[in-house]
Amino acid sequence: MNNKTLAILKPDCVKKNLIGKVVTLIQKAGFKVSAMKMVKLTPDAAKGFYQIHKDRPFFNDLIVYMTSGPCVPIALEKENAVEDFRKLIGATDPAKAAEGTIRKLYADSIQENIVHGSDSNENAAIEILHFFSRKELPDINGF
Ligand code: ADP
Ligand code: MG
Repeated sequence: MNNKTLAILKPDCVKKNLIGKVVTLIQKAGFKVSAMKMVKLTPDAAKGFYQIHKDRPFFNDLIVYMTSGPCVPIALEKENAVEDFRKLIGATDPAKAAEGTIRKLYADSIQENIVHGSDSNENAAIEILHFFSRKELPDINGF
């Protein structure tokens, strides 16, 4: 599976009223929106999603941020989705993100960086299933 990735429009994206602008950029870049919802993560759900970072110094702040308001997980499809989406969003730190990337355009800080993108095909599958049941993925093949 190399044609799916999970995006999350993070709470700062929702609060700044940027959902439409960011989804437009994602679609203009050739991604198909296959499933999308708005959810407010509980602390346990946020901790589960970011387990890999549990020992990092920024972990607690990350959980507070990700639970500070609703976010919008989106299952995306495109050839080479993971790599192409990481390119579209830019570096984690917006100060280091390339011109024209979503984080460069809209993010305020390395923490409040507007959008998540899966970092591997394996994690994309795990992360999509973190937010969507198989029933909610009617047109997605490979699950
Ligand atoms: P990415 O989202 O680019 O894959 P990471 O997986 O390294 O980045 O980190 C997950 C999220 O944790 C980042 O998107 C950001 O919101 C937050 N984060 C990462 N590094 C830092 C940091 N040094 N200080 C504060 N928050 C951070
Ligand atoms: Mg990451």
